[in-house]
Amino acid sequence: MAVPITHIADHIAMIDNGLLQTDGFGATYVVRGDQVAIIETGTSLSAAAILSGLDQLGIARDAVAHILLTHIHMDHAGGAGVLLQALPNATVYIHSMTAPHLVEPSRLLKSVERAVGEMWPIYGSIVPIAAERIQPAETLRLDLGHQIVLEAIATPGHSPDHLAFWDAHSRTLWAGDAIGIMMSTHQLAFAVTPPPVFDLPAQLATFERLGHLPIETLLPSHFGRTLNPPATALDEMYTRLTVLCDATLAGMQQTELPLAQIVEQLMPTSRPLHPALDLVVRGTLAMSVRGMKLYFERHPRPV
Ligand SMILES: [Zn+2]
Repeated sequence: MAVPITHIADHIAMIDNGLLQTDGFGATYVVRGDQVAIIETGTSLSAAAILSGLDQLGIARDAVAHILLTHIHMDHAGGAGVLLQALPNATVYIHSMTAPHLVEPSRLLKSVERAVGEMWPIYGSIVPIAAERIQPAETLRLDLGHQIVLEAIATPGHSPDHLAFWDAHSRTLWAGDAIGIMMSTHQLAFAVTPPPVFDLPAQLATFERLGHLPIETLLPSHFGRTLNPPATALDEMYTRLTVLCDATLAGMQQTELPLAQIVEQLMPTSRPLHPALDLVVRGTLAMSVRGMKLYFERHPRPV
């Protein structure tokens, strides 16, 4: 199985991990210095594509030393356990706040099932990871050699454990879901604010923090290098967050939240999408509206 690979820089390649049965949605980034790191794993169902991608890049399985995860959501971290079975020398890095869920995943699985609704059947499962193969990522400063140093930057909001990874030398930011979804292949961008712990003030602070970084290459996990320059992309995603926030608040004024109507209003394009992509976009928007609504239910605004 040949998988699509994009060369982003001399030291960075991107494997399309086929996330949620959709092309151009889930990125696994491969960073090569003297050591090899991969960033994001997709779900357990993405592992085969990632291993094929490593083969295509000529990277031996025992050469992968590091697996960096931006946060615990299953479309980012769910595949780590399966991958570790095939990558004997790899250590997993994730925020220590959520690392226990990879060791004992049952509660996480229930929470994700509730959050993702109709998309649940395509989320795979989680193979538990031995605690000794996991390291805390929040203080990460990983020197891969060749002037490549990956540093963790706290970027909560989307989730409390969210980290972005920054390489100061190449001015590259692996943004995870920190500012939203920007699928460059499909030219679709939208906010992603999932239940149960989306945090609006933290999200706004994350935009502020990232706005001060001299980013040249912005790499969200969904998907690929942004088409717009990083500063423009940040502004655009901030606006999309505001629109989702306002649409949810307006919907909450009604007796029953008009979820389908809000999703329609937030659709990032009017052109028809491939059914698998349509499910993912609408499913993610519905999840985001539910996450935003839950945030406001827990933090009512003064009238
Ligand atoms: Zn996420």
